[in-house]
Amino acid sequence: MDRASPHRVFVALGSNLGDREQHLKEASSQIALLAECEGFRCSSVYETDPMGPKDQPDYLNAVGQFTYAGTARQLLEELQNIERAHGRVKATARWTARPLDLDIVLFGDQRIDEHDLQIPHIGLAERSFVIWPLIELQPDLNIPGLGPVELLAKKCQKFGITRYKGAAK
Ligand code: AMP
Repeated sequence: MDRASPHRVFVALGSNLGDREQHLKEASSQIALLAECEGFRCSSVYETDPMGPKDQPDYLNAVGQFTYAGTARQLLEELQNIERAHGRVKATARWTARPLDLDIVLFGDQRIDEHDLQIPHIGLAERSFVIWPLIELQPDLNIPGLGPVELLAKKCQKFGITRYKGAAK
């Protein structure tokens, strides 16, 4: 990959343990401070029913958009460092409660299918808490392999999510 040409990236942020809003706020600042990151902006924050087991708190979710001058794998490592700094331990089961979850939703127009990294993120089309913030950030977005985000939104109604707080700016 040409490191000189940054990719437009979307990262999903989620938290359902501890001070959820603070985790999202701090994680946004930490992403914005990465050396390869430029122009970070964040969607509104949404409150979302948990996926999977229901005996866990609701999530706060948002999506951040920025340009990134490294590789997708490098970004994954940097996001995992941030998750760990927020007390995230590697879960043994899927969809368990967590102080911070950071997923790479899109990385330019790249499509990656490796055992520990899939882009676009798997399940994107069914996740209204990702689709609706994406629409907010870029309504004309075209998702590699899935098509226009506006069409996905029509199929994926705002079920189980409510707006919690508007975008910071
Ligand atoms: P989760 O518990 O849903 O946060 O899943 C964490 C695991 O998902 C990590 O070990 C990653 O290697 C893997 N993973 C696969 N694709 C992605 C992606 N696009 N963004 C972040 N993590 C990913």
